[in-house]
Parts: sequence; C-alpha cells; structure tokens
Amino acid sequence: MEPFAAPPDTPVESLLPTLRKLRAAQAARIPDYAQRRDDLDRLRRAFQGKVEEMAKVVSADFGNRSRHESLVADGMTVLGEIDFIRSHLKSWMRPRARRVNWLFLPARAQVLMQPLGVVGVIAPWNYPVSLALKPLAAAIAAGNHVMVKPSEHTPRTSAFLRELLDEVFPAERVAVALGAAAVAGAFAALPFDHLFFTGSTAVGRKVMAAAAQNLTPVTLELGGKSPCVIGEGYPLPLAAARIAAGKWLNAGQTCIAPDYLLVPHAARDDFITALGSEVRARFPTIAGNPDYTSIVNDGQYRRLRGYLDEASAHGVRTLELVPCPREQADAQRLLPPTLLIDPPEDLAVMREEIFGPILPIKSYRTLDEAIAYINAHPRPLALYHFDNDRARVQQMLERTVAGGVSINDTVMHYAQERLPFGGVGPSGMGRYHGYDGFATFSHPKAVLRQARLSSMALFKPPYRRLADRLVKFLTR
Ligand code: NAD
Repeated sequence: MEPFAAPPDTPVESLLPTLRKLRAAQAARIPDYAQRRDDLDRLRRAFQGKVEEMAKVVSADFGNRSRHESLVADGMTVLGEIDFIRSHLKSWMRPRARRVNWLFLPARAQVLMQPLGVVGVIAPWNYPVSLALKPLAAAIAAGNHVMVKPSEHTPRTSAFLRELLDEVFPAERVAVALGAAAVAGAFAALPFDHLFFTGSTAVGRKVMAAAAQNLTPVTLELGGKSPCVIGEGYPLPLAAARIAAGKWLNAGQTCIAPDYLLVPHAARDDFITALGSEVRARFPTIAGNPDYTSIVNDGQYRRLRGYLDEASAHGVRTLELVPCPREQADAQRLLPPTLLIDPPEDLAVMREEIFGPILPIKSYRTLDEAIAYINAHPRPLALYHFDNDRARVQQMLERTVAGGVSINDTVMHYAQERLPFGGVGPSGMGRYHGYDGFATFSHPKAVLRQARLSSMALFKPPYRRLADRLVKFLTR
C-alpha cells in the first residue's frame, strides 16, 4: 500500500465560522426545487465518474477492500438513493393539504416541508462513502446546507470525499471537516439545526449529550448485536448462503451483519457443515484473495483477535472455516471467517458488538427460548428470522423489537428505498432512506389559512347568551 500523507485536521476554531457562513447563505437563498435537483444531478454525475477511483481509495484505506463490494455497497447505494430522490422530490416538496376541523371551516390547513437550515453529518469508516453521501443527498434534497465530518480511520476516503464535494458544491453550501476525536467532539457541539450521526452506541451517547446543549435534534444510526434465528425445518443450505452473504460482506464490518446465530438444537451440526461449505465456495482462500476484505486497522484487528484468544482460553470450540497462515494474516489484517460454538455469555464476544468476521452459534430448543434470549438483550438494529412457518414469523415480529427485519434473508431490508432505516433504543433513534430521509431533514410546518369569515368570530367577550350556548355545545 502506498504511504499516504493525510491532510491536516480542520482547525477547531474554524468550525463555528463555517457553520455561520453556511447558515447565512442558506437563509439568504433557500434552495428551490431547481437548485436541489441541479445539486443532486451534479453530485450524481461527479460521483459516478469517480466510482472506480472511489473503490481504489477505499481499498487502500482498508488494506484490501473487495472492489465489487465497494462498487455495490458504497457506489450503487449512493447512486440508487440519488436516483430515487430525484424521481420523487417534486411530489415530496408539494404542500400537503389536511382536512380542517369542521368548527373552523372554511379555513384551510396544510403541511409545508420546510428545510431545517444547516445539517451536520458525522460518518463512520465501515462504508465510509455511502454513510456520508446518503444522508448528505437527503439533506440537500430537503433544501439544507450541510457540514460533513467523515471518519479519521479511512483518511484517503475522507480526502476523496472532500475533493468530490468541493468540486460539486460551492463552499457556502457544503463543507467538509476532517479530523479525529477532538474535531469530532467540537463538531458535535456546533449549534446545527439537525445532527445526523452514524457510529457506535458509545460515541452516540456523547453526540447526544453535546447536541443537547444546543437543543439540536439528533438522528443516531448506531450499532449493536443483531440476532439471526433459524427456524425449525428451514432449508439449511439456503439459510447458510444468505447468512454467509450478509455476514462476510466487508468481512463482517457491517452494522446490520448477523452478530450471532440461534439455531435449533437438533439442526446445529448440519447447519455448521452447510455454512462451512458455503463459505469455502465463496472464499476458497483468504490470503491474497481480492474478494476478502481486510480489517480496517490494527486496533480493530487486535480487538477481534482478542475475542478469539479469550474464547480459546475458555476452551470454546472454534472453527476457522478458511484457514490463513497467521503471519500473513497479521501482516495484512486478514481475519478468517470463524465460528464459535456455544460460547459462554460472559465472554466479550457475547457482550460487545462483534463488527467482524466472527460468528457465534448458539442452539435453542423452543421459539419461546429464542425470543426470550433476544429480549434479554438490548434492542438490536436488525433481526433476521429464517422460517417458512407464518405463525412463528408473526410471533417473532410481534414479540421482539428491532430497528429493521429481513425474513428469510439478511441485510436486504437496508436496500429498500421505500423502507425507513434506523435503530430503536440503544441501536439508534430516527430514520432515513428515501422519503424518510427527506422528512428527517425537513420541518413539517403546520399552516392554517383563515378565511374572510370565521365561525370563531362568534366566540368573543363580552360573553353572553350566545357564548353560553356555544360553550355548552362545545363541552357537551
Ligand atoms: P465511532 O462511533 O467510533 O465513530 C464514528 C464517527 O464519530 C467518526 O467520524 C468519529 O470521528 C466520530 N467521533 C468520535 N468521537 C466523537 C465525539 N466525541 N463526538 C462526535 N463524534 C465523534 O464508530 P466507527 O468505529 O467509525 O463505526 C463503527 C460503529 O458504527 C459500529 O458500532 C456500527 O454498528 C456503527 N454503524 C452503524 C450504522 C447504522 O447505519 N446504524 C452504519 C455503520 C456503522
């Protein structure tokens, strides 16, 4: 990998003046439909022209990042979101008429979707382009100006994003701040009109505390341990294929990757065999395989190795599905797809979000037991249930609370523009994608247009018989 001199951090003292500049420009000229449309068109064109370069830059940041996965997960998702927004924006912007309470007729009521002003976007490293540009596109579509803080852990990608956005947007419409915790902390403390954060639950707490000082509303797209349950009798090879697709995408560094599996006790060993064959077919080797993504940095690699070391110290059965010589693995931060069979609950791997290619497998005997296990843990960002029995699926949907769910698949609910994406409780608050993103970055302003004649004119002091009758009628 070529050495890279990261651009200097954005000076903390420049952040507030930048926000003020963006805010003044937004207020002076609220972006109309033509402006927003043009912004999205130019962003799409510029990004599409650099999408191969983007895949190279992200790969250089990771050590190796599958080109195909970058083009889909960081490329297609952004282009698809922009296309969906472009085709619906005009109708989303239209004022929506609401029926007026009959007592107030013939007044008229409507909701205007008004831009909030300046939106802050803080992005993580795992899908560093998509998780910066998708919220940005939604905020621009809603008529806001935007300040973005990409992750310090993918510095080449952050520099790429800044170059791209500087090329597409004038400096008073979109600004990019670069830097680690000090810049990030100061960024979260800015008096934005909305702050959109994607990252860990621990940092999400700090972001919300900082935003509270300004009463800045927040959207928190956080993480957590997303359970995956295989139902009784579900075809195991099909479950194995779909779980492998969601788990080892980006080497498990995905917020909605299945974190652990719950498998019927009697099917456990057959499922492990099916999953092993599936993974080996996808990744015949790990070393030197361009399709298998490296762990992003030494800190994350050590954290994941630490889970495995602790598991082996406790005698947990560990299956490295595609072995890789340790020296090469360490040099390239390659962590093979690894199953942990029935690890005890007190291990770190069962307490913390894994965010890597390790998959614990636990067995259960009844659906009630599986549901009770899920409900004994914090509410997850995603939940997966493989089951063809409609009653059992219904039970799972009704009795568990999760940000989003895919039934008989993993991850794919994320890719639906018409579904809101977001967590619940410790996995996040608020949502975006498609219309939900536009709504997140808009203020639904309630407007009543009074008519020349108003029945309310009858109700005024001095209160006499008419007012008495009116009050009696209204409080009947
Ligand atoms: P992180 O929380 O460490 O960092 C995310 C961003 O927050 C970075 O830009 C970082 O600079 C910034 N940051 C650091 N300290 C800050 C502070 N005090 N105030 C404000 N910002 C601060 O997360 P990460 O390691 O980059 O990403 C991994 C986590 O993100 C996982 O938990 C994963 O589940 C979650 N995630 C969630 C989603 C989602 O859509 N819900 C998507 C991807 C990742």
